[in-house]
Amino acid sequence: MAAEGADNNVDVVILGGGSGGYAAALRAAELGKSVVLIEKDKVGGTCLHRGCIPTKALLHAGEVADSARESAQFGVNASFEGIDMAGVHKYKDGVITKNWKGLQGLIRSRGITIVEGEGRLTGPKQVSVGDQTYTGTNVVLATGSYSRTLPGLELDGQRVIASEHALGLDHVPASAIVLGGGVIGVEFASAWKSFGADVTIVEALPHLVPLEDEANSKLLERAFRRRGINFKLGARFERVESTDSGVKVHLEGGQSLEAEVLLVAVGRGPTSADLGYEEAGLKMDRGFVLVDEYCRTNVDGVYAVGDLIPTLQLAHVGFAEGILVAEHLAGLPVVPIDYAGVPRITYSSPEVASVGLTEAQAAEKYGADKIKTVTYDLSGNGRSAILNTKGAVKLIAENSDGSGRVLGVHIVGDRVGELIAEAQLIYNWEALPSEVAQLIHPHPTQSEAIGEAHLLLAGKPLHVHD
Ligand SMILES: Cc1cc2nc3c(=O)[nH]c(=O)nc-3n(C[C@H](O)[C@H](O)[C@H](O)COP(=O)(O)OP(=O)(O)OC[C@H]3O[C@@H](n4cnc5c(N)ncnc54)[C@H](O)[C@@H]3O)c2cc1C
Repeated sequence: MAAEGADNNVDVVILGGGSGGYAAALRAAELGKSVVLIEKDKVGGTCLHRGCIPTKALLHAGEVADSARESAQFGVNASFEGIDMAGVHKYKDGVITKNWKGLQGLIRSRGITIVEGEGRLTGPKQVSVGDQTYTGTNVVLATGSYSRTLPGLELDGQRVIASEHALGLDHVPASAIVLGGGVIGVEFASAWKSFGADVTIVEALPHLVPLEDEANSKLLERAFRRRGINFKLGARFERVESTDSGVKVHLEGGQSLEAEVLLVAVGRGPTSADLGYEEAGLKMDRGFVLVDEYCRTNVDGVYAVGDLIPTLQLAHVGFAEGILVAEHLAGLPVVPIDYAGVPRITYSSPEVASVGLTEAQAAEKYGADKIKTVTYDLSGNGRSAILNTKGAVKLIAENSDGSGRVLGVHIVGDRVGELIAEAQLIYNWEALPSEVAQLIHPHPTQSEAIGEAHLLLAGKPLHVHD
């Protein structure tokens, strides 16, 4: 559907109004460009409607449930009486709607034209929506991603579900098998356990959150064991069958598990099929659109951002790529993104947060004898004791004595996601441990653990036993 009064020839045509697309639109408009933003569903995309925001609302509701259950240990008389899923949805949807309205207003206030409808690339600089064609000096592709599954494993949306179905469940499943121990699988396992479900994660690799530093994975696994979240590592899915009460999942090697639902969380694939990308001559790999460090495709004037390209599938990466593209096409000097410097958070209880290289990556890049790692246990941190959370801050620095720049920061513990913002400054500004050790952290905060870990690395530990 064409927006009323829309000019079909503009500076920038953007296909997809998720994190990557709308960030490009907002920045391009700010730089004086005329912009058409084409969206077939709702601006805000996966992150706002089916991803970051709703999952974090569920996790927060879970945290409230856990607080009620554990209130006695803080001397508070409260009791947990159950989850009212309709109430949880009302709260979650309220957050989404408020943000969605705000975003629509923001987009309109920048003079961006939103075109509602399904677009298709019909020429290198041209996107068609129904009988309308929009031509841009530049085109930005931002069609995002979808929940993948495994060959032969069909999602029915009822018993065998993906994250978008899981977000809409009208009840707490009595039991759930989560296929995939990556970020999405771990977050749902954590929320469902808090809601009272019996959860088992099945992960083919040797650890949960397998992209994280192994130390973080092990701390998360220990915490999940304490919480009674079951997981099977190095376990490969073979097939699923329906039972009277749900599903039976067969693993390679003969083991089987039964539960009410199976959540398939094995990753997300790029939304690029049948959108005219191949016909336009775009270089692609396994469905991802390939780009250079400025997010330029091989077709002149056409950029691609977000989950559609093979970079980290995170909303803030989409934002950064969208801004970078807008500035690049406007002729501003831009610095390519250092993807190792992007903060990553898994918002389970406890949270897992990291920036920079893992120990294995640092050892490979610099040599195992040319790096130093230290671990500061949160048991020495007063605020973490008050919150009753366990975990650690692990640092990796260059040089065998740790005197070089900080190469990686890896944290586990409740609420530590907020700490990674400081850690990303440390990593991205190439700070030395001795420089960070000079900085004073407020007491009592969990941020002190960052300071203490750097004091330790700089050879002058404070709250650390010899
Ligand atoms: C369950 C879950 C939890 C997540 N949690 C987090 C988190 O906590 N933090 C984080 O950083 N990231 C998180 N993510 C990832 C994050 O949501 C994505 O990285 C981000 O949304 C990618 O943005 P995008 O713009 O590339 O794609 P999307 O947000 O998917 O947007 C693409 C948009 O394009 C539209 N579109 C597609 N095809 C067409 C077409 N032909 N015509 C018109 N419009 C079209 C779609 O409708 C969609 O709105 C999560 C994802 C999931 C699934």
